[in-house]
Amino acid sequence: MQSVWSKTTDLPKQKELKGNIHIQNVVIGAGMAGILTAYFLQKKGLEVIVIEADKIAGGQTKDTTAKITSQHGLIYHDMMKKTGKSRAKGYAQANETAIKAYEEIIREEGITCHYEKLSSFLYSTREDGKELLVQEARAAVELGIKAHYMEGDKIHELPFEVSGAVCFENQAQFHPLEFFKALTDKLTIYENTNAIFVHGHIIATNRGTIEAENIIFATHYPFINVPGFYFLRQHQERSYVLALKGRNVPEKMSAMYYGIDEGGLSFRCAEGNLLLGGGSHRTGKRVSHCENKGYSYLREQAHLLYPQAEETTYWAAQDCMPHDGIPFIGRYSFLRPYWYVATGFHKWGMTSSMISAMIIRDMICGKQSPYEEVFTPQRLLFRAGIKDLCVDIGESVVGLTKGLFSRKETRCSHMGCHLTWNEEEKSWDCPCHGSRYDNDRKLIDNPAQRQKPRK
Ligand SMILES: Cc1cc2nc3c(=O)[nH]c(=O)nc-3n(C[C@H](O)[C@H](O)[C@H](O)COP(=O)(O)OP(=O)(O)OC[C@H]3O[C@@H](n4cnc5c(N)ncnc54)[C@H](O)[C@@H]3O)c2cc1C
Repeated sequence: MQSVWSKTTDLPKQKELKGNIHIQNVVIGAGMAGILTAYFLQKKGLEVIVIEADKIAGGQTKDTTAKITSQHGLIYHDMMKKTGKSRAKGYAQANETAIKAYEEIIREEGITCHYEKLSSFLYSTREDGKELLVQEARAAVELGIKAHYMEGDKIHELPFEVSGAVCFENQAQFHPLEFFKALTDKLTIYENTNAIFVHGHIIATNRGTIEAENIIFATHYPFINVPGFYFLRQHQERSYVLALKGRNVPEKMSAMYYGIDEGGLSFRCAEGNLLLGGGSHRTGKRVSHCENKGYSYLREQAHLLYPQAEETTYWAAQDCMPHDGIPFIGRYSFLRPYWYVATGFHKWGMTSSMISAMIIRDMICGKQSPYEEVFTPQRLLFRAGIKDLCVDIGESVVGLTKGLFSRKETRCSHMGCHLTWNEEEKSWDCPCHGSRYDNDRKLIDNPAQRQKPRK
């Protein structure tokens, strides 16, 4: 099914690359991260093109809920403890700067994209959630964010009682594809141009070869395994959204909401719909084996909370989850100083895309970015990532071992892990790294390349 954004925007078709070219900068991937990076580089007067394997915004960007926030769940208290105050402050400030940058671009370019400035609330319905929220509010304030804790009786828009909440002020929401469309109109983009492999400064595509001084991988999940080793440093999680309309369903809300409890829900309104989000789980884990997951969980909740609601559309998407919770933005590897990467957005890719674009622009222009150190892919935050690292290693060992004994059709073309059947979405999904294929074995989601699983 299409998201509310895809249903309400026609993105113009782009040309395909024809033959071989030489260019200063190439961005691989026309999602939010790629388009913003190209836009910033072009604004600096640099020569840049974007190549896209499929259609522009054909990846996760069309399926976001498009909250532009520095509020990313319950993170700051934990991040300060595990990575230190300085890095946590850098993360918070980078996200606050990214929110402002959206506003500036929208104003400067005169973009109409239903941009609204409003607050975002973290909430809990449990008594023991209050303490966590109080801690989070304290941490956020210490890191320079305008935030405050409030008791739940002050929240009236949600269809249930809330024990407590943290309000982050000056956050925003928008129509991501209307914004995206306005930027793509200014750029040179080649669609149906798939980067098959990259060797040094050369990108081999299905349409011709590109030689570039700088190469930016904005492909959601990097598809080159070595160097970089991103497949060892993150996994993917799917999340689900229902668009609801009907009696007692709000068409507009004065804020955005995000639940911190197990099975917590996300709320925002858009295009006269309420967008109810949640049900996340590791890609490739069978939904029926998990509680509070997938469309079935969201539909159950929608029925309970808004019995008279009708579903106008529904969709799901996935994002890369780095072990330490911080995106990888900067040099792909110290072995390839002219390759750049933007990945691991942790389901917060609107601000993370903007931060990527700002950092990569500064690096290419030889300017020191204040946020380069925070997001550098060359960091080692062992303490912050050890738990997720162990889980990922376990999943990969199981997936690869099963892959050795499974039929070739149910083996992922990325690294050979065993694919599991996703009954809710009728797809074959990889629990190791998150590649997905439809029932005809056509690739839907990377890091696998655009080809059928090994036969
Ligand atoms: C359900 C859900 C809700 C979300 N809501 C929010 C939210 O409210 N706020 C927020 O901040 N974030 C949110 N996110 C996260 C956010 O949507 C993503 O992080 C973001 O859209 C990722 O953008 P991207 O440009 O990195 O990737 P994509 O949009 O996936 O773009 C990558 C592009 O690269 C192309 N590509 C891949 N490989 C190649 C290749 N070899 N050659 C050429 N092109 C290639 C792909 O086709 C794709 O078009 C949400 C995520 C989910 C799953």
